[in-house]
Amino acid sequence: MSLIQGNTVTEATAVSTQVCIIGSGAGGSVLAAGLAARGVGVVVLEAGPYVTRKDFSQSEGEAYPVLYQDRFARATADAAIAVLQGRSVGGSTTVNWTTCFRTPDRVRAFWKAEFGLDLDLDSHFDAVEQRLNISEWPVENANNATLKTACEALGWEWSRLRRNVKGCANSGYCGLGCPYDAKQAMLVTTIQDLLHAGGRLFSDTQVDRIEHSGGKATRVHATANGHAVTVTADKVVVAGGAINSPNLLLGSDIDPNGLVGKHTFLHPVVAVTGIYPQVIAGWTGAPQSIGSHEFIEREGPGWFMECPPLQPMLASAGFLGFGAQQHQFMAQLPHISSFLSILADGFHPEAPGGTVTRRGDGRPNIDYPVSEGLADAMRAAHIAMAKAHLAAGAEVCATLHPEPIELRSEADLSKLEEAPYGALEHSIFTAHQMGGCRMHSDDTQGVVTPDHKVVGFDNLYVVDGSVLPTSLGVNPSETIYGLAHRAVDLLA
Ligand SMILES: Cc1cc2nc3c(=O)[nH]c(=O)nc-3n(C[C@H](O)[C@H](O)[C@H](O)COP(=O)(O)OP(=O)(O)OC[C@H]3O[C@@H](n4cnc5c(N)ncnc54)[C@H](O)[C@@H]3O)c2cc1C
Ligand code: SF4
Repeated sequence: MSLIQGNTVTEATAVSTQVCIIGSGAGGSVLAAGLAARGVGVVVLEAGPYVTRKDFSQSEGEAYPVLYQDRFARATADAAIAVLQGRSVGGSTTVNWTTCFRTPDRVRAFWKAEFGLDLDLDSHFDAVEQRLNISEWPVENANNATLKTACEALGWEWSRLRRNVKGCANSGYCGLGCPYDAKQAMLVTTIQDLLHAGGRLFSDTQVDRIEHSGGKATRVHATANGHAVTVTADKVVVAGGAINSPNLLLGSDIDPNGLVGKHTFLHPVVAVTGIYPQVIAGWTGAPQSIGSHEFIEREGPGWFMECPPLQPMLASAGFLGFGAQQHQFMAQLPHISSFLSILADGFHPEAPGGTVTRRGDGRPNIDYPVSEGLADAMRAAHIAMAKAHLAAGAEVCATLHPEPIELRSEADLSKLEEAPYGALEHSIFTAHQMGGCRMHSDDTQGVVTPDHKVVGFDNLYVVDGSVLPTSLGVNPSETIYGLAHRAVDLLA
């Protein structure tokens, strides 16, 4: 077993290995474990800390600054979209809400037609579903029950969601790290497989640059506890996730076809809250157990609906009012149910995604314009969610505008027709970042080829959510697990 906690490193360190993987999230750790199981020498470098269930106190104040990128304050450059993204061993899987979907057929057909990608992922999904115990979750909390009731009342499609859990206590705190090791996140599955197979993992080790010459990655330069960590490897894999992977490539002067950072997708999320006569207590119970794809194939940008967990800090972060308004909102929290509409970007000209560039100080800059068409889709989603809350028995529902718009009956829905939906005019966030290093079958149109190789390089790969050529219209983790599992065959 070889875990090196970077914050204990006391001198410059140089290591060599067969494969160096940068990032230990959904992509990096599935690949690392698969390679190590085949006897390949693997070193994983992870910027975030190695924290385990004994560190997961279920306190939002303690968890968010440690487990999320930019201490939970990551956002687009205009601050219009809050970006929730993980940063610890296990990446975003340590804090994700456990919903698992295979890549939908309609998305695979789109990729084949538009990008020439015909990826055979089914056997890889079978394998990761077994390792991560992915299966349907049979009970919904009151928050998710309202979505089911609404869909049934309105005749909308809905389904029970699948989760990667084993022995889940139904606590509802997945977003703060699972204190029971029930979430089958990378931390307790593939990271342990990697370590037991002899792989090496450096936590708290930030990769600054990939040195290269003549189409070959020659060395990886990182920093741990103020000391240089240098890795020489036959193959180098970037798996820092969307946003960070393109930023690292740009900082290493790697930009095939001028496309690195382009086509970045966020699955922008908008929400409407409903206040119910009964207690909802949306902070307890599996965060997401019911979903609806009723609106995914509409004419404009489509969306799918789920419910978020409602821990107090998370709930209050989405509410844009201050002072007495904020106090009033929080006083109602026990009776609040919230619906999310998660917009699929990359499929429609009005939802083309955004761009990651690198700032002068080395940090990623995320530009994500909210087009008029996207704003219209957000309005349509708000109308649908408000209708759903009313159908499920909410006494009143409210939008997340700075001055919340309250609706008490269907007659009030017309108020939303005039409401503003541009950037900074209402609350938008993302928990699903994708793209920025897109995969394409044509070497002149992508950053990586279908075998994950960076165009123009012999031994440099990207294996994470950044390779997706569009968003997915479903939660992305299982697609990334499947792609990484497939990449084991390609790299071994
Ligand atoms: C709050 C939340 C809830 C979510 N809920 C769900 C859900 O229910 N279902 C679902 O399917 N998806 C969910 N997701 C999204 C899902 O977890 C991610 O899409 C997935 O983990 C992305 O995998 P990845 O490998 O691309 O990146 P990540 O899993 O984010 O891993 C990337 C890792 O690389 C590290 N890294 C980055 N740059 C460097 C560097 N330069 N040097 C060293 N290390 C680096 C990062 O610190 C990070 O640990 C959620 C995400 C969040 C934040
Ligand atoms: S709901 Fe289940 S998986 Fe999530 S934190 Fe609680 S016990 Fe862990």
